[in-house]
Amino acid sequence: MKLILLGPPGAGKGTQAKRLVELLNIPQLSTGDMLRAAVAAGSDVGRKAKAVMDAGGLVSDEIVVGIIGERIRSDDARSGFILDGFPRTVAQAEALDHLLEQRGLKLDRVIELKVDEAALLARIERRAAETVAAGGTVRADDNPEAFKVRLEAYRAQTAPVSAYYARSGRLSAVDGMAPVATVAAAIDAALA
Ligand code: ADP
Repeated sequence: MKLILLGPPGAGKGTQAKRLVELLNIPQLSTGDMLRAAVAAGSDVGRKAKAVMDAGGLVSDEIVVGIIGERIRSDDARSGFILDGFPRTVAQAEALDHLLEQRGLKLDRVIELKVDEAALLARIERRAAETVAAGGTVRADDNPEAFKVRLEAYRAQTAPVSAYYARSGRLSAVDGMAPVATVAAAIDAALA
C-alpha cells in the first residue's frame, strides 16, 4: 500500500500515520522528521534547510525530492509506505509520480485531512504545551509566528496538490475535526 496523507500543519497526519504504520506494517516517511534529523546531524542538507524550516517556509523541491527519492528505494519501503508531509507542492507531486513510474509503482490513495483553520493554532499550542509537560523540546517552528507562515505556505503551495490528485481520481477527503477514532475509521473506509 502506497499512501499519501495530506493536510495542513496540526491536522493530525502524524497521529494517523503512526496508527497506519502498525495496521499496515509499512513505514511512515515524514520529510519533516527526515529534515529535522538532517538538521540535528549537521549535514549539508540540514545546514541548508534549518533557517527556512525555523521560519516556517518550505525547503526547496530539489532537496526534498532528493531525500524522498533515496528513501523509497530502501528495502523497508518495498511493500509500501505512508508519505507524511510530502508532496507539499505540485512540482513535488509530479516528481513523485515520475519516481514511482520509473520503478513501475503506483500510488494507491491520497487521504486529505480537512480541518477548520481556526482550530489549528490551538492544536499547535496544545502540542507545544504537552511536549514541555513531558520534558521534551518544542519544535523550533511550533510558535505562532512560524505557524502563520506554515499555514500560508500550505494555502499557497500545498492546497493545489489536493486538486492535482483529485483530477486523477486518487483523492479521498476525510473530516479531520472529528475525534481521532472517527478520523481513523473514515481513513480505513477510504482504503477498503
Ligand atoms: P507540519 O507540522 O507543518 O506538517 P512537518 O514536520 O511536516 O510539519 O515539516 C516541518 C518543516 O519541514 C516544514 O515547515 C518545511 O520547512 C519542511 N518540510 C517538510 N516537508 C517538506 C516538503 N515536502 N517540502 C518542503 N519543505 C518541507
